[in-house]
Parts: sequence; C-alpha cells; structure tokens
Amino acid sequence: MTELSKTECAAVERAAASPMLARTEAWTAINSGTRNLAGLGRMADVLADAFSALPGHLALLDPEPAESVTADGRVEALGHGRHLHLAVRPEAPVQILLTGHMDTVYGADHPFQANRWLPDGNLNAPGAADMKGGLALMLAALEAIEDSPLAVRLGYEVLINSDEETGSFSSAGLIAGAAKGKIAALTYEPALPDGTLAGARGGTGNFSILVHGKSAHAGRNPDEGRNALVAAADLAMRLNDAKAPGLAVNPAKIDGGGPNNVVPDLAILRVNFRPRDSEAITLARIAIDQAVAIVSVKHDVRIHVHGSFNRPPKPLDSGAEKLFELVKASGVDLGIPVAWKFSGGVCDGNNIAAAGVPVVDTMGARGGFIHSAEEFLIPESLAERAALSAVTMLRIAEKGKI
Ligand SMILES: [Zn+2]
Repeated sequence: MTELSKTECAAVERAAASPMLARTEAWTAINSGTRNLAGLGRMADVLADAFSALPGHLALLDPEPAESVTADGRVEALGHGRHLHLAVRPEAPVQILLTGHMDTVYGADHPFQANRWLPDGNLNAPGAADMKGGLALMLAALEAIEDSPLAVRLGYEVLINSDEETGSFSSAGLIAGAAKGKIAALTYEPALPDGTLAGARGGTGNFSILVHGKSAHAGRNPDEGRNALVAAADLAMRLNDAKAPGLAVNPAKIDGGGPNNVVPDLAILRVNFRPRDSEAITLARIAIDQAVAIVSVKHDVRIHVHGSFNRPPKPLDSGAEKLFELVKASGVDLGIPVAWKFSGGVCDGNNIAAAGVPVVDTMGARGGFIHSAEEFLIPESLAERAALSAVTMLRIAEKGKI
C-alpha cells in the first residue's frame, strides 16, 4: 500500500473495521425475493436502520406504478417494495451516485433460504454476492468516507431499490432522477470470482404482445373465427427472423388457447430482445411495428404491444473508460488487480449509463453462481472491495472529477 496517501490508508482501515460479514449474514437471513413484499418491508427497515449511521436525509420511497400482462390477457398493477433513498451533502462541490438492490431472485417459496459455510471458506447464502454483501461493503466504504477529512468535498445519493431483479420497473424514474448532476456512479453488483468487472453491457427489452382474435366452433363455423394463437405464432416467427448481428431475439412463450374444439380468441406472445447498441433497438422497434402491421391484416386480429427496452445498452464511452481507469489505478495502489470485460447481463448500470453518467456497476463483492442455489460470496473480498470503493471515492473527491 505504498502508493496510498495517509488519508487513504486511514479510510481503508476504517472500512475494514466495519462489520461487513455479520451484516451480510444477517441480511441474507431475511428473504427479500422481488415478489415477497412482506420480506422486502423488513429488509427495507433493517437497511434504513443500518444506513442511518450515515449523515444526510434518508427515506423509504413508495414504488412507482408498474403493470404486467397476465396469462389471461389482463393488464394488472404489479406490487413492489419501497426503495431506500439517502441524500448526503447535496451542497458539496463533487456529487456521485451509489446504487444497489435489496431484492433477490429467491421467492419466499424457493428451497434456497439458509446460510451455509462451504468447505472452501466461502459463504453460500441467498443474495450473499448478489448483492447483500455488496450493500454491506458499500456502507463500510461510506462510513470510511464520513470519517475522512475529504468528506466535506463529497456529496452523494444512495439508491437501494427493491425491484432490480425483475427490471427496475418501479424505480427507473428514481434512478434517472438520482443520476442527474452526478459526475460518476458506482453500483454494487458482484464482480467475478477473480475480481473481473463488467465493462460494456448489452441491453434488454421484454414485451408481451396481446393478440385478440375471434372465437368460433372448430367444426361448425371455423371460418368465422380468427385464430389468435396462429397469429401469435406468426408474430413469433417474424420477430425471430429479425435476429441480426448485435440483436438477439427470443420468442419465449405463448399464453392462450383452450379446448380443441374452439378457435382461440386470445394469445399473448412473450418475447425478449437483447440489443447490443442503440441501432439494434431501432432495428427491433421496426421489426415489431412491421410484424404487427402485417399479422394484424393477414390474420384479421387486433394486436396490443406492452413492454419496453427497460435496460438500454451500456457502451464503454470515454467517460466510462476514465472511471474504469480511476478504479483500476486505485486497485493497483491497493494491490488489487482490476480488469473488465463485456457482459451480456443487464443491471441498473444500464439505466445509469443511459442517463449519461459514467458508471462502474460491479463494485460489489467477489462471488459466483448467482441466481442459483449455489450462489457464493468470497468473504475476504468484502474488506478488499470496500477499500477499492473508499479509495476510488476519495480520489474523485480530491480531484473534483474522474
Ligand atoms: Zn444484482
């Protein structure tokens, strides 16, 4: 640590003294699957209590309205948990954003609920790496910042949403608002087991396309019917043909249909798009419009498109590259190798980048097998990554830029 300043060394020590592992274990013991609103309520209260150690104004904000299309074609409001928001020193000259999520992919009825120590010393627990360990080390880094003489120069907002794992539909507006005016953002998704970060990310868009036909008896008057299922299948084929380099298309499911003797009057096509850049989004939009126009005429059906490209692609632009270099330089001085590579996965980092703010979105713990019952956290990475965050933030505060 020879290259670190005295202030930075003190911050690294202060962060390491934070009870990160104990917090992670306590937090993973609370089920906070995105659909478990009671569990999320408890999780939000526990996090609000822990983050109250920081100065500033903390609030639990109500989710924005979001909708889903049910298997029988109804458009329903979708319930979400509250989101934690903290604003510290909004008057300080340097402003950054830190984000994380309190939800996990494991619902209350999922078999994976308990914490377990593995023979190799890693912690197998629901949400340990993704991302309760990340939240614990984010807090540790901020506690260290607050003890530092450089704190007066640095203001920040912390946003911990409750719906990241299902696409941040009830927090997207909050993320965009919190990103405003920030010179950089750090998000606490896990790094790979060897510490590699996610660089550029592709985007994603999920759509539910409702097809309304007309029912009729399959034997008596089939010509009077308009088969919604066949029309949805035609749509799926046409959208599938829109695949291109940089645009993956996955028609995933068709809901609808019924008894064999009835021409089905309703079908819902679920389709996922993975655009690598904004041109690919344009391509996908054109493909959807064209397919809908052709199929509605050819099959004489009504079609409604629900959904959006809720995670825009995150290219590595010059601002993002500067921030990665800053994180890397902090890592070099700490003896932590920092590298990054493209990821096909998506997260709130996509939304922050779309707001024009440079972001490194894998500042969290090292771990792996996330979104599975094998999920693990490497415990020694907590202090290591907290140090990386603290030094990165101190350098942003000191330079006043990235
Ligand atoms: Zn995550």
